[in-house]
Amino acid sequence: MSERSVCVFCGARPGNRPTYMQAATDTGKMLAENGWRLVYGAGDVGLMGATARAARLAGGRTFGVIPAHLVGVEIGKRDMTQYVVTETMHERKKVMFMNCDAIVVLPGGAGSLDEFFEVLTWRQLGLHNKPIYLLNTEDYWKPLMQIIEHVITEGFAGDGLKSFVQPVDTVQDLTIALRAALS
Ligand code: AMP
Repeated sequence: MSERSVCVFCGARPGNRPTYMQAATDTGKMLAENGWRLVYGAGDVGLMGATARAARLAGGRTFGVIPAHLVGVEIGKRDMTQYVVTETMHERKKVMFMNCDAIVVLPGGAGSLDEFFEVLTWRQLGLHNKPIYLLNTEDYWKPLMQIIEHVITEGFAGDGLKSFVQPVDTVQDLTIALRAALS
């Protein structure tokens, strides 16, 4: 079977708790150990940097997708085995999505939420069938699951919306879920 790839959306900041950076490091290492390529936003900062560094350190492959305006900042960083430059941020999201078999969202801010909602919307519209996991470190994504529940309860989405998102509490649970999905 050809190489499987996992796209990780996550914070460009480290967050306030050490467990967030730890989750990113554990995720990067786990991807490499399972032979899965990391597809990511090519940033060398926060959880993004930690995920990529850990993946490379463990001998994994990483594929960075960089919008043109960040090229000068990000290229030359050591954590990418391969990268592609896109014209816009929009195109970048599409390229990250097209080059992966599953999506994992670690704790993050507006950028991660934007990326998450885009792939969720595409899934809702039936444009793809790729699994979407939320790594729920420190219950970080609980409010997000609550808003999704609220949207359904208030009639702005079908019950199916919830089924497109799979929260996992630990990197170990994530590994089990990914193995089942990517085998
Ligand atoms: P945020 O969650 O707001 O920190 O944004 C992180 C997400 O947006 C990542 O998954 C990236 O794809 C993208 N992003 C934000 N800042 C950067 C950066 N400095 N370099 C590369 N990608 C970034």
